[in-house]
Amino acid sequence: VVRCVMKKIAIIGSTGSIGTQTLDVVQQHPEEFVVEGLAAGANVDLFVQQVNQFRPKKASIATRELADQVRPLLPAEIELSYGEEGLIQVAAGTEADTVVTAIVGSAGLPATLAAISEGKTIALANKETLVTAGHLVTALAKEKGVSILPVDSEHSAIFQCLNGEHMEDVAGITLTASGGSFRDYTREQLTNVTVEDALKHPNWSMGAKITIDSATMVNKGLEVIEAHWLFGLGFEQIGVLLHPESIVHSFVEYRDGSIIAQLGTPDMRVPIQYALSYPRRWNSAAQRLSLAEAGKLQFREMDFERFPCLRLAFECGKIGGTAPTVFNAANEVAVARFLNREISFLKIEYLIETVLSRHEALADPSLEVIKDVDLWARAVAESL
Ligand code: NAD
Ligand code: MG
Repeated sequence: VVRCVMKKIAIIGSTGSIGTQTLDVVQQHPEEFVVEGLAAGANVDLFVQQVNQFRPKKASIATRELADQVRPLLPAEIELSYGEEGLIQVAAGTEADTVVTAIVGSAGLPATLAAISEGKTIALANKETLVTAGHLVTALAKEKGVSILPVDSEHSAIFQCLNGEHMEDVAGITLTASGGSFRDYTREQLTNVTVEDALKHPNWSMGAKITIDSATMVNKGLEVIEAHWLFGLGFEQIGVLLHPESIVHSFVEYRDGSIIAQLGTPDMRVPIQYALSYPRRWNSAAQRLSLAEAGKLQFREMDFERFPCLRLAFECGKIGGTAPTVFNAANEVAVARFLNREISFLKIEYLIETVLSRHEALADPSLEVIKDVDLWARAVAESL
């Protein structure tokens, strides 16, 4: 019996929802992992605790000021850096063979590209990176022979359902959507919802941005584009179905009519762990699913009038080029402004739609063009 060597990992966004759950998986399987790098934003206390506990070789935090502040609190041998350069150091400058991209937003793009350039396997949670520049990320991964393994629960489900099958036999895939915090609200009822209401997700506990994205259905739109890049499927082959229980995490339909689905209780540690244990499976502390207890599972057609952001995402995906870049950047600003109580909930979709209406999509954009368009869309979304 050949004993596998320990897996060396780096995490960018280690203090967030996905980052902390990844470290939870590491703690449950200490014999499997060495943590080579940790990078975080501004959550100083948790960052200091994580670095002291997991002793990575490299660590990074958002700004120089924060780095100065935490330096005396960290072991001297740890190489500490900050900002975008620090993120790149942690993602690409260690001996890690796998990088978990648990950062939020298109801010993860440069570090993800750097990690791929260094030949590192990507366990991808940071879907915005694939939405904003999917053609560049996937082309570089192909060139470098790098695997991008999904962490997002829907994409992990699809990945598992595709295991060993031929892509030509796939008729289509369906991503399930819980419906978010306001799934039973009418458009009228959405007018006056608060930040607090929006942050109460019925099934999953996640970071603030993705929780708002779930309520607007932008998250499912980002996931449709993410699936397009991860699995090389056309947008007409990707469907979305409302499934309030979040038990069927997504499914694949084959040309013979067979449907293969992946089921489980909603616990992100399962797809996170699978991206790290693949092709093996390990024990998990996640609660077991009892179908008898669940009794009944519901599925409903998606209402594109009720959730216009999902329609916009499909449109942007089909147009391609810089359209998804603009969709994503406008949404990042709109969500930040909503969380900051500058705009109401329904203004999120208004901002996205307005910024998109002012943009003429460019085909096959370079990284420079992506960066310019991303900045332009952010500026317009801020100005509205
Ligand atoms: P979060 O807000 O909880 O955590 C984000 C992490 O990134 C934090 O550690 C934060 O400090 C760090 N960060 C943010 N901006 C940074 C920057 N500029 N530089 C360095 N670090 C920075 O977010 P999350 O919910 O964990 O989501 C992370 C990603 O995973 C998102 O792309 C999200 O869409 C995706 N995702 C999350 C879940 C979930 O259950 N939370 C599920 C599926 C996919
Ligand atoms: Mg998801």
